[in-house]
Parts: sequence; structure tokens; C-alpha cells
Amino acid sequence: MAIDEVIILKNDSPLYDEILAHRLGMIPLKTDIQNYNLPQDCSCGGFGCPLCQTSLTCEVINDTNKPIVVYSGDLKSNDPNIIPVNDKIPILKIDKGSKIILECYAMLGLAKNHVRFSAVSNCFYRYYPIITFNESEIKDQDEKDLIVKMCPEQLFELSNNTLKLKEDYWKTCSLCKACERNSEEKIKVDKKEDTYIFSLESDGVLPFEVIIKKTFEIYREKIEEFLTKLEGCEI
Ligand SMILES: [Zn+2]
Repeated sequence: MAIDEVIILKNDSPLYDEILAHRLGMIPLKTDIQNYNLPQDCSCGGFGCPLCQTSLTCEVINDTNKPIVVYSGDLKSNDPNIIPVNDKIPILKIDKGSKIILECYAMLGLAKNHVRFSAVSNCFYRYYPIITFNESEIKDQDEKDLIVKMCPEQLFELSNNTLKLKEDYWKTCSLCKACERNSEEKIKVDKKEDTYIFSLESDGVLPFEVIIKKTFEIYREKIEEFLTKLEGCEI
């Protein structure tokens, strides 16, 4: 969910209304995907109703003697479940005696249409690394020191002068092969076949479990749609 429509009643700040609206749109909001419909799937036909949107208001009057910052926490939501993930996101600054009064409408949307609807800030996959070596082949002290020193992720360590690989090396190994080069290929770096490490970071709008569950639900729907269409084809 994200702010999609903004009605600016008063903006005494130096920021243009368009920039202010953009900044409001980019504030991540805690989202409730159970009780809200996508506007295009809603019975109101996307016109806007309590089933597909909620309003947030903001009214700040600076009656102090110095400029103040208006934060995301100053947005008051109609639905206590739809609130900014963090109330310390700065929106703008207003000078003494200035006002900011606005009304916003938040709705569900898809990140393929606009990034403000994205539920993740980071999402990628990479190969699962496999590092193998025979400790007895690496005898030279300088070589051992070099391997430990040259690994940018510090995955090797010397214990009792024995070269050891950290147990959870797969979490941070970037397959740079620095150890392979510095050991004249006595250490081998390879990727595990058919295995990937998938990393996903929520920006706070939805819990991780909900994101991953929903992702596979959508994926399944797409595969089923593909199969249905395939059955209708003449091959
Ligand atoms: Zn509606």
C-alpha cells in the first residue's frame, strides 16, 4: 500500500506541491492485504471506497520560533493498521508561523506499475559456493598467511597453524576466487549444481513470511494460467 492521491490544502514550505506529493508516495506504509482490494478488482470499479483505500491526514502548524521538520509520524491514518513503517521519515521543513495541511489516500498497488508499491527493498539470488581443499597440500607459511589475508570476506582462519574455513562461509562467499589464485589452485571454488541462495529484504510494509507466501501464491496462479492456456493450444 502507498499514498496514491494527495490533496494539498496548505503548503507554506519551500517544496513544490509535486515534490511533496512524490515524497509522501514513497513513504512505506504497513500494509493489510487481507482487508483491502486492488482498486481494479474492487466492487467500486476503482472509484475509491473503504474496501480499496484509506485516508491519512496531516496538519502541522509551526508556532515555535525556529524551523521544524514534519515527519511521517505526523500523518494521522483513518485505519490504525495502515501507518508509516517508521515515524521518523522526514517529509519537509517549515519555517516559524508556517502551516502544512494535507489529505492523502493510500491504496494497494503493484510494484511493476510503480516502485512505491514494492514490498521489498532488496531481492536477488546467487550461486551456492563450495570451497574444497586438502590442508596437507598447503604447507608454506607465507602461502597460508596470504590466503587468510587476501580473502575479502575473511572466510579463512589459522588455528594452531592449520588453515581452516569458517563453517558458515557460504553466507558471505562471493565466489571471487582470491583463495584459488593465491593457493595456485590447491583450493577449489565451485558452485553447487541446482542450488541457489535467494535473498529477500522486506522494507517493513509486510512481514517476510507474508511476502514469500504471497510470492509463491502468485507464481502458482501464473503457472496454472499457463497450463490452462497450453491445454487450449493445438500443437
Ligand atoms: Zn473500492
